[in-house]
Amino acid sequence: MSKTKKVGITGRYGARYGTTIRKRVKKIEDQLHSSPKCPKCFTPAIKRKSTGIWYCKKCGCEFSGGAYQMETQRAIESKRITKRKQRELEIEE
Ligand SMILES: [Zn+2]
Repeated sequence: MSKTKKVGITGRYGARYGTTIRKRVKKIEDQLHSSPKCPKCFTPAIKRKSTGIWYCKKCGCEFSGGAYQMETQRAIESKRITKRKQRELEIEE
């Protein structure tokens, strides 16, 4: 049985560093420990290699992403915009 109700993994910090920072760390670490799927082989074996660099443990492919998240809200938005622009260009041609 875990003693921490809300703080989860950041319980290890006790009362130190301030609640806002602990919450931020929790959000990041929760995402780090939940494995997103590889865009190539669809196995949930993604690990963070470095800032913005992710790799798949199964097929060994490396790809870029957010610093602490594989896919950030920004990236999703940017992809959407790129797709829309491409479609617009196709219509013009
Ligand atoms: Zn893979």
